[in-house]
Amino acid sequence: MTIPACNIVTRFAPSPTGYLHLGHLVNAIYVWGLAERWGGQVLLRLEDHDRGRCRPEYEAAILEDLDWLGLQPHGAFPVCRQSERHARYVQVLEALVARDLVYTCTCSRKEIVARTGGGGGELRYDGHCRDQGYRPEQQGGLRLHLDDHTVSFEDLLLGPQTQCPARQCGDLLLRDRHDNWTYQFAVTVDDWDQGVNRIVRGEDLLESTGRQIQLAQLLGRPDGAAFLHHPLISDPGGHKLSKRDFAKGIRDYRAEGHTAADVLGKAAAHVGLWPDATPLAATDLRALFPTDTNPMALARNKHVEKETP
Ligand code: GLU
Ligand code: ZN
Repeated sequence: MTIPACNIVTRFAPSPTGYLHLGHLVNAIYVWGLAERWGGQVLLRLEDHDRGRCRPEYEAAILEDLDWLGLQPHGAFPVCRQSERHARYVQVLEALVARDLVYTCTCSRKEIVARTGGGGGELRYDGHCRDQGYRPEQQGGLRLHLDDHTVSFEDLLLGPQTQCPARQCGDLLLRDRHDNWTYQFAVTVDDWDQGVNRIVRGEDLLESTGRQIQLAQLLGRPDGAAFLHHPLISDPGGHKLSKRDFAKGIRDYRAEGHTAADVLGKAAAHVGLWPDATPLAATDLRALFPTDTNPMALARNKHVEKETP
């Protein structure tokens, strides 16, 4: 794995569970545009931790679509696939096990809902299996003891944030009952290992950030990454466009004869970065971010960077 020797490193990290759509493109526009604005680099990471949902044809399509769009990641392409990182995740897990922070959880989602009344909002795990400890011979998920502490960070766009993962989601799942590494675990290990220090992603992942900060601190990451959560694309009815929706793939636009600049312009216009759907070249993304998004937060992060060897 080649990690860039550069101060600012961000990443585009799609999961190959479907084709790239306008929602991904909005994220890509923020990631590449801000990386250029900051003089940083973009890594491409394929987040195929959920083996049941990922397919090689989606991975190939993502790489092809990015190439067509003119969005060039730095260095190795991709920097990693999470499916190839099993040995590293085991190593990190073992370090947590040695500190007595991990336990086996045999609860199904249904059981957790039944006990906690789950219902609306996010499911909070109630610590039911905590006292039974780590039982490697037992089939089940693996959870991390989370102290009830508050995580504060300054989002580069949204300003000060306060979260308490222990109260919001309870003990974090590191590996699920089907032996898939979870998003929260894999992403935290990877962002650290790959030197990612600016994480730019959609607002739908805002609640994950406190969890990833708490986990990174627990793992001993000395320098925190800075985070920016951007608005999500909405359809005219105001619904979030997601893979589960009938979102149109980038490749469908291409098949209809649209150019890469047409599609980039369309995505940027959807989140108000571009006055209307006029073509936008991949080489012009920097122009969308003429000023620091939040000078106060950027100043704070410059300070953090100085402390990083
Ligand atoms: N793999 C995630 C997704 O495709 C992105 C995760 C992240 O940016 O932290 O939604
Ligand atoms: Zn349990």
